[in-house]
Amino acid sequence: MKNLVDKLEKSQILSHSEIKTLLNSKDNYLHQRARHVAKTIYGNKIFARGLIEVTNYCKQDCYYCGLRRSNNHVQRYRLSEAQILDCCKTGYNLGFRTFVMQGGEDGHYTDNTMAALITKIKSQYPDCAITLSIGERSRESYKRLYEAGADRYLLRHETANNAHYSQLHPSEMSLSSRKECLQNLKEIGYQVGCGFMVGSPGQTLDHIADDLLFIQEINPAMVGVGPFVPHSSTPFANRQAGDLWLTLNILAILRLMKPNFLLPATTALGSIHAKGREHAVLAGANVIMPNLSPTDARQKYLLYDNKISTDGETAANFSNIKQSMKEIGYEIISARGDYLEI
Ligand code: SAH
Ligand code: SF4
Repeated sequence: MKNLVDKLEKSQILSHSEIKTLLNSKDNYLHQRARHVAKTIYGNKIFARGLIEVTNYCKQDCYYCGLRRSNNHVQRYRLSEAQILDCCKTGYNLGFRTFVMQGGEDGHYTDNTMAALITKIKSQYPDCAITLSIGERSRESYKRLYEAGADRYLLRHETANNAHYSQLHPSEMSLSSRKECLQNLKEIGYQVGCGFMVGSPGQTLDHIADDLLFIQEINPAMVGVGPFVPHSSTPFANRQAGDLWLTLNILAILRLMKPNFLLPATTALGSIHAKGREHAVLAGANVIMPNLSPTDARQKYLLYDNKISTDGETAANFSNIKQSMKEIGYEIISARGDYLEI
């Protein structure tokens, strides 16, 4: 196992079966080396992104997600422009220099509406980066939003395997259109994030090894990896959540594969384990995405059950996560935290 970690650290490409061996590792060495590599690039600094959950309306029907259109137990909401600007204000005063606007695929947010919102945020907070995570859109739409001032885009590929993709999504969604979106986003100039859930129904270690090879090939700036967590009103209600240790192994492999990747310690990981996000940082993650959404919106934006930070004040939640990062020797800093090509 150690020789494979060393191979990765020397930027050598691992084979599918070598990656599988690392995924099965029970040894702390993998995490230790990933932590060491993260420290050489980012020191003990963690970048914070303020998450604003703009809408829980969604026209898609992903089988795993609590916001899917077929879930009629959800009380749907959309934040107004004033509410979103208010979240930015709170976030800015707390030191956030990146705002992530995330939501379901909601037709209300036309290109005009989104572009106007982005322009407004950028004019009020010119020193901040804007990340979008609002699903699949046309190339023209992505271009328009980029020109309005959006800097980054998160669109997880979910799985690099066609058959597995169709186990997770209805037939109107396809891996090829996901890939096309990611390609378009990259060509337009966004810092792009892809990624996947760990332990999604039907996923095998072979799939994960393929996901990691796929990520290496498309070479994004960010990779979002968190455990699948079941939601009670979805077809996957009775499935098991993803595994903490396996998620940590994946984060560590990604860190060693590409030392400068931006790797979030996800909220989903914090939701399956009280110290999930701290463990992620100790396995090489360097980004955290605290929630800036109004409390009542947070309680309605449930991708999965048992999501953390759905109550409490934004400032208090942020102060708690800052403190718990401090306890493991890390500092959340106030910076845009752009991807640095090396
Ligand atoms: N609609 C946008 C953004 C919101 S969903 C999109 O789909 O890209 C953001 C991410 O949440 C998804 O990419 C998915 O990987 C994750 N997610 C959805 N349901 C989940 C679940 N049950 N457990 C863990 N993560 C989930
Ligand atoms: Fe909609 Fe995103 Fe959930 Fe799919 S994962 S149903 S696109 S919010």
